[in-house]
Amino acid sequence: MLEKFYDVIVVGAGPAGTTAARFAAEQGVSVLVLEKDRDVGYPVRCGEAVSKDGIEPFIQPDQKWIASTINSFILISPDETEVKINFSRTGYILERRIFDYELGKLAAKAGATILTKAYVYDLLRENGQITGVKFEHNGEPKEVRGKIIIGADGVESRIGRFAGIKTHTKISDMECCVQFTVSNINVNPNACYFYFGTKFAPGGYLWIFPKGNDSANIGLGIGGDKAKYRSPISFMNSFFENKFPNIPKLTMISGGVPCSFTLEKIVKDNVMLVGDAARQVNPLSGGGITSGMIGGSIAGEVAGKAIKQNNLNLLHEYPKIWHQRVGKRHEIYYKIKNAIYNFSDETLNSIAHSAIKIPENERTLLSIFKIALYDKPSLIFEFAKIFFY
Ligand SMILES: Cc1cc2nc3c(=O)[nH]c(=O)nc-3n(C[C@H](O)[C@H](O)[C@H](O)COP(=O)(O)OP(=O)(O)OC[C@H]3O[C@@H](n4cnc5c(N)ncnc54)[C@H](O)[C@@H]3O)c2cc1C
Repeated sequence: MLEKFYDVIVVGAGPAGTTAARFAAEQGVSVLVLEKDRDVGYPVRCGEAVSKDGIEPFIQPDQKWIASTINSFILISPDETEVKINFSRTGYILERRIFDYELGKLAAKAGATILTKAYVYDLLRENGQITGVKFEHNGEPKEVRGKIIIGADGVESRIGRFAGIKTHTKISDMECCVQFTVSNINVNPNACYFYFGTKFAPGGYLWIFPKGNDSANIGLGIGGDKAKYRSPISFMNSFFENKFPNIPKLTMISGGVPCSFTLEKIVKDNVMLVGDAARQVNPLSGGGITSGMIGGSIAGEVAGKAIKQNNLNLLHEYPKIWHQRVGKRHEIYYKIKNAIYNFSDETLNSIAHSAIKIPENERTLLSIFKIALYDKPSLIFEFAKIFFY
């Protein structure tokens, strides 16, 4: 049965929300997670790629949610030169509907209560203080009180705005994505493919992530400023017509990925934001699963401590720890993203032509970067511009 009061209320049961709930509950405080959808983990709006190192601190890899194991990248330039990079670190393509569900189970095991079909539509305020949330459950309006509210409500987050946090993201930093899960496809089952350039995905990239059993996620993201002129779906359709004209498409999804800095404020009064809601996505790759889990774990742990010590000022530790562990690195990735996504097709081709000259067993992202600089010293100035101007 639902209580009238919880120490911590988490809005949203994505990876950031359930991880926050779990880390708070592990401190012995009462936690409620409210999720608007019927199921935790579904619908999936994701390419589902993660690194093994990224998820291992939170959950032991399990074949039931690993669709494929990745050990190489294939980078494809605008003139379709393919550069394969093998790596020793492992990546996974997930079955997120099972993975997210397992994260939910870990939060429940730690003591959190999870309620689905619970749509939060406002914060509850009493005497000028935020004291809980208002939500609709099975069509009925309800209220629940809590000391700390964690907004884990994804890219379209409203909790931050309700609390008066500026959540605005520049249109050019909002990657507009579309993705199909296809079957009957013949690609390397252990490689992720990335296509770059204006014909594939201007201001972003197009991906093929294999999902085993002749299936794959094929999608692309383009900068929001570019999407004004030509839609992501139109780029996707051209790709399919050229490469896989009759491929069976099993699902289609679309969504935004905020490839920006973390929001300036991720804590206000007793409200904390985590995951996409806080803009904790890696701005270079667009990956937000593991970084959201890191944000969630820090926020959950700090929230639990603040409750136990009856000191909400402790919540301000969360942004400090986040910036030290990840946020500062994301600021560098953001600058690199801006450099790479503004490379001309000619520059991308020239880098690829240099890279394929490196023997495959010596080819790494760093070696490609070095040879690209050697081959095209003007790149140094392009990077210098990004970092120093
Ligand atoms: C097309 C696409 C491809 C991507 N590919 C990758 C990838 O390959 N690898 C990667 O790491 N990342 C990828 N991402 C990004 C990744 O999906 C997100 O960064 C990640 O899901 C963020 O986790 P989260 O918990 O913050 O938010 P979400 O996973 O979005 O979860 C938010 C939850 O909050 C719920 N919610 C929202 N509003 C309310 C409300 N008012 N009341 C109650 N519940 C609410 C939602 O239903 C949802 O369950 C991709 C994104 C897209 C769109």
